[in-house]
Amino acid sequence: MLCHECDLLIQNQVIDEGSKLQCPRCGHVIYKQKHNTIGKSLAFTITALIFFYPAVTESIMSISMGGKSQHQSIIEGAQVLLQEEYYLVAILTFMCSLLVPLLRLLLLFYITFSLSVNLFHKSFFWSFRLYHYIEEWGMLDVYMLGIIVSVVKLSSMAEIQAGFGLWAYAGLLLTYILAANSLNPHEVWDLLLEHKQLGEKQNQTKTNQEAA
Ligand SMILES: [Zn+2]
Repeated sequence: MLCHECDLLIQNQVIDEGSKLQCPRCGHVIYKQKHNTIGKSLAFTITALIFFYPAVTESIMSISMGGKSQHQSIIEGAQVLLQEEYYLVAILTFMCSLLVPLLRLLLLFYITFSLSVNLFHKSFFWSFRLYHYIEEWGMLDVYMLGIIVSVVKLSSMAEIQAGFGLWAYAGLLLTYILAANSLNPHEVWDLLLEHKQLGEKQNQTKTNQEAA
């Protein structure tokens, strides 16, 4: 393992629940062995998936200006960008605020649910790797920041009201972060390795029995 603060290479060790592994050189906490992280992460992932649909289809905010009122959801916002021929911005918005977060949640659900019910499949290895690779492309927080900035900028010119979509989006953002942060990746990799070794051992006994 590598210390993220000072790049010291440390031998991977098994530590007790509730304790933490610290870098011997700089004191940085490399990881904490938390209790039941897979179950917690699964619960937050399911909640985030419930929030997802209203967050993208319900109106984020309504803007009233000069007697005219307009409200839009995230999906409609991306459609408007396409109509206005901002293709690159539309694709990036669609990808970073919808596609990647949804894909990450589905991957996380697939892995945490299967490990909770003690199921194992070879595809978990690349699924969990993909989950980490696309992390930088899921930008729910950046989108939320964009909404807040536009509310502040527009508030002096128009009357703004938060829609149901905004509350659902805030819920999605919160549970999305909690789902990712409550999971201990070391625990997942250890479990995956354990299952893999167990499977290999069973295969070995099977071939030995067949040969006998
Ligand atoms: Zn260190």
